[in-house]
Amino acid sequence: MMPTRLFFCNLFFCISLFLVGCSSETESESDKTLANKKVTGSSSVDLLTNDKTKLVVEIVSVENFEPSAMALEEFRSFIDRHCHKPSGIEFRYNTISSPGKDRYTIDDIVETEETHRTAFNDEETVSVFVLMLDGRSERDTDESVILGTAYRNTSFVIFQGTIKRLNPYANNTELAIAQATVINHEFSHLLGLVNLGTPMVTVHEDEENKNHCQTENCLMNYKADAGISIGNLTRPSSVPELDAFCLEDLRALGGK
Ligand SMILES: [Zn+2]
Ligand SMILES: [Zn+2]
Repeated sequence: MMPTRLFFCNLFFCISLFLVGCSSETESESDKTLANKKVTGSSSVDLLTNDKTKLVVEIVSVENFEPSAMALEEFRSFIDRHCHKPSGIEFRYNTISSPGKDRYTIDDIVETEETHRTAFNDEETVSVFVLMLDGRSERDTDESVILGTAYRNTSFVIFQGTIKRLNPYANNTELAIAQATVINHEFSHLLGLVNLGTPMVTVHEDEENKNHCQTENCLMNYKADAGISIGNLTRPSSVPELDAFCLEDLRALGGK
């Protein structure tokens, strides 16, 4: 099988984000959802520090495409290692029927969020929306596939259909590691990595793959080689961690 490059996320999605809500200022006073419709990376302080003491993670999954319990534990542990949330981290789950597409555009994804998201920021709480989809990204090609995309300040999507399709023979542990790698990676974009709202203490952004880390085995490297790859039988035995440069950036902004 031809080696295929895997991308955690599409850079254009990561960077060329849209500010929804700017055009409807008359509604802005009353729309409590606007704080969750900002550009990716702009909520890094809310997520990392105890300015907001609580974090709610709302996970909306297409039926049969839920993340595994093991992947969710990895995610929770990752949040706990990097974010100060003295009032706790609460996971909420909802299962939906498939929106019915094979390929999803970013508009499809936003529309699904608008329909199903129920948790938003308030005085004490920052809320994150995670969408687990059954299909693939419309931007997938024969050469590359997108496993996940952070598309707003507190929202990301995981193309669980693609992850499953690429790992037909994976056991539960391998699948959980693959899922948790993408989930933690996309969440780290919400934390402003790399150079995505969170300033770099030491320059370590990958020149060719913006908003990703130069360090080969860092969670924020653009490649999924530390996670999963087509035709690559060497699978990691654990979810990749952030390297010292990425950690330094988060701590400089007030993270753990
Ligand atoms: Zn990425
Ligand atoms: Zn890094």
